[in-house]
Amino acid sequence: MIDTSLLINTTVTRHSRINEIDPKNLPFGKYFSDHMFIADYKDGEWQDFKIMPYGPLPMSPSISALHYGQEIFEGMKAHRTDAGVVQLFRPLENLKRMNASAQRMCMPNIPENVFMDGILQMVRLDNKWVLGEEGCSLYIRPFMFATDEALGVKTSGSFRFIVLTSPTGPYYSDPVRMKIETKFARAFEGGVGFTKAAGNYGVSLYPARLAQQEGYTQVIWTDAKDHEYIEEAGMMNVMFVIGNTLITPSISGNTILSGITRDSLITLAKDWNMKVEERRVSVKEIINGINSGDLTEAFGVGTAATVALISAIGYNGKDYIVPVNNPESFSKRVAKHINNIRKGRAEDIHGWMVKV
Ligand SMILES: *Cc1c(COP(=O)(O)O)cnc(C)c1O
Repeated sequence: MIDTSLLINTTVTRHSRINEIDPKNLPFGKYFSDHMFIADYKDGEWQDFKIMPYGPLPMSPSISALHYGQEIFEGMKAHRTDAGVVQLFRPLENLKRMNASAQRMCMPNIPENVFMDGILQMVRLDNKWVLGEEGCSLYIRPFMFATDEALGVKTSGSFRFIVLTSPTGPYYSDPVRMKIETKFARAFEGGVGFTKAAGNYGVSLYPARLAQQEGYTQVIWTDAKDHEYIEEAGMMNVMFVIGNTLITPSISGNTILSGITRDSLITLAKDWNMKVEERRVSVKEIINGINSGDLTEAFGVGTAATVALISAIGYNGKDYIVPVNNPESFSKRVAKHINNIRKGRAEDIHGWMVKV
């Protein structure tokens, strides 16, 4: 049981906006629930815990996050089961990863009680925002940024941690077309690719826009040095099925984000007696696999979409078509199974769900 005894100064809104949203029209990250959680780090400790109505915050234009990018975030979801129970999917994994990001970016650790109590107390207050409609959930966005007012390039001594929540519908429901990126890179050995640091997303926008102008949804990132090995699919991890083997780039370097969805799918694949290989995956192997027909599935995995089927991979100006219509494919079965666990329809044998 997670302790939820953190004292949080709570101001409840007098004007809930819940009636302004339409569950059938919820673009990702566009609407925010009634409240937000805020904690401040100063004098070496987290303090001033508060939940207040969502809205603008006064802020100095000189805070160092705005100038030098000391900002990290997380993404997770709350789901409503068929019986009406609200639960989070593997939240402590997000905390662990957030603290790994914090360490790399010279930011303070977030204690478990601050992270979990902030989220749990807020989701309880805003529980009407966890929609039960199929495909809907409440996306939770914890983030932390440096708040020292100073233009010197040095680590800040003060930080702010905020949690926002956003009701969402199904994301990327159609199969996506991905372009293998052979010029730009998002991450490099020794860098911060394994963290959810804000700058990783800033650098990805321009290559993604070029890919979109060529008719693709996103890019598949390759290694920064030779562009020979596959790393991620946009802001998702990437997986392939060849024969009865699930293949995904290994996260042993520090260029690939350690996705919780990725880890969950690997666990389920092993439960289902599939062979799993976490290793280097070359572009050549994938293109050859598509050409020979041995590669039967390609998909991105992450919290926002869970599983996004890839229907085409563009490489050096040519499209390679991947099948997406097999209802028995691993990607479709596993997406359904994870949804069933979240909705309380399948047994949660790994203890992934945390009740709110
Ligand atoms: C968040 C993220 C993922 C997916 O991680 P999940 O924990 O599964 O949501 C994958 N790649 C990148 C670059 C990400 O930022």
